[in-house]
Amino acid sequence: MYAERMGKLPPYLFARIDELKAKKIREGVDVIDLGVGDPDLATPPHVVEELCRAARDPANHHYPSYTGMPEFRQAVARWYRDRFGVGLDPSTEVLALMGSKDGIAHVPEAFVDPGNCVLVPSPGYPVYQTSTLFAEGRVYEMPLRAENGFVPVFEDIPGDVANDARILFLNYPNNPTAAVAPHGFFETAVEFAREHDIVIVHDNAYSEISYDGYRAPSFLGTEGAMDVAIEMHSLSKTFNMTGWRIGMAVGNREILAGLGRVKTNVDSGVFDAVQRAAIAALSGPQDCVVQACRTYQERRDTLVEGLRALGFQVEPPKATFYVWMAVDDCMAFATRMLDEAGVVVTPGIGFGSGGNGYVRFALTRSTDRIREALERMEGLGL
Ligand SMILES: *Cc1c(COP(=O)(O)O)cnc(C)c1O
Repeated sequence: MYAERMGKLPPYLFARIDELKAKKIREGVDVIDLGVGDPDLATPPHVVEELCRAARDPANHHYPSYTGMPEFRQAVARWYRDRFGVGLDPSTEVLALMGSKDGIAHVPEAFVDPGNCVLVPSPGYPVYQTSTLFAEGRVYEMPLRAENGFVPVFEDIPGDVANDARILFLNYPNNPTAAVAPHGFFETAVEFAREHDIVIVHDNAYSEISYDGYRAPSFLGTEGAMDVAIEMHSLSKTFNMTGWRIGMAVGNREILAGLGRVKTNVDSGVFDAVQRAAIAALSGPQDCVVQACRTYQERRDTLVEGLRALGFQVEPPKATFYVWMAVDDCMAFATRMLDEAGVVVTPGIGFGSGGNGYVRFALTRSTDRIREALERMEGLGL
C-alpha cells in the first residue's frame, strides 16, 4: 500500500520505549519520564495574554502571509540584532516557520536532487535524516565523537561525498550531546561549505538555554556565513512554546527564497494571533528565560552530582536541557531503567548510529522527580 520511500525511513526506535512506558503506566508504575525534549515549564503569562487578545481580533482570522507578518519579521530582526549582533533585512532575510522542524523538514526539497548527498550529524535530531530521505537524497552520517568535542571532522568526509553534498546540517548547542561549538569551528564549516558549494543549515533551537555564564552565538555571526548559510530558530525551547508551532529561518536570502517557495506550496503560514504572541515573547521582558535557565541549572547539578555519586562519569553541559552519558549498551540501559526503576531515558542509538553507547537524560522534570529517579537507580547495578 505504501510508497517505497516509506520503507527507507529508519525504524522508529523510540516507539519501543513508548510502548514499554505505556505498559508500565497501565501496570500502575509511577513513571518518571526523563526522555522528552519538551519543557515542563509554562509559556510566560504575557505571551498567553497576547494570544488571547489577538485571537479575539477578527483582523487575525484570515490566511496569514506565507513569509510571516512584517511586524513578526521585524521583531525577529530586532531580536537577532540585540541578542547576537547580527543584522537582518526583515523583508528578505527572515521567514516565519511553523516551528523549526517545519524548516528542517522542507529545506532539502529545495536543494537536493535524487541521489545527492546530505551531511547529517550522527547522533543528531532525527528530522535531518528523514527530510533528506523524503527528498530522495543520500544521508551521509558525520560521526560526532567525544574526543573531537562532538563536532564533525570535515577532513574525514570523502572527497566525492563532499563534492556531491548539497546541504550540511549543524546544531550547536547540540541535541542530544549537549555540546557547544568550540572556538573556530563555525569558521571551519564556512570554509568547507565555500570550497564544496554546500548550503549550511544551522539549527539554533537551544541558543538561549545555557549555564555558568556561557552565551551561545548565532552561526550567522561567523564571517562569510551570510553567503552560505541559514539558521533555523524557534520559540519552542526558549519560551516554553513547543505546542504553539512558531519559529523562523534567517540568513542568506537566496537560500531562504528556495525554502519559502517550497513552503508556499505546502502550508498557508502561521496563524497571525500566534505571530502576535511570538512578537510579545521576542520583544517583551526576557527574565522568564533567565529564570528557566536557573531552573534547568539546578536540575542539571542535581542529576550530574547524583549520577557521579552512583559511579558514572558525566560532565555538566554548558547548554541545552540534556545530559549525555556514556554507557556500555544503550538499549539495555534504557530498557532496564524503565523496567526496574520506572525511569524513561532515551537510548543514544535512536539519534543515529553515532549515538550508540550513550543515553540522554532530559532535564524537563522537577528536581524532586530527578532526585527520586536517582534513588530508584541506586542498587540497580547499572
Ligand atoms: C526541539 C528541536 C527542534 C524543533 O523545534 P520546533 O518546536 O519545531 O521549533 C529542532 N531542532 C532540535 C535540535 C530540537 O531539539
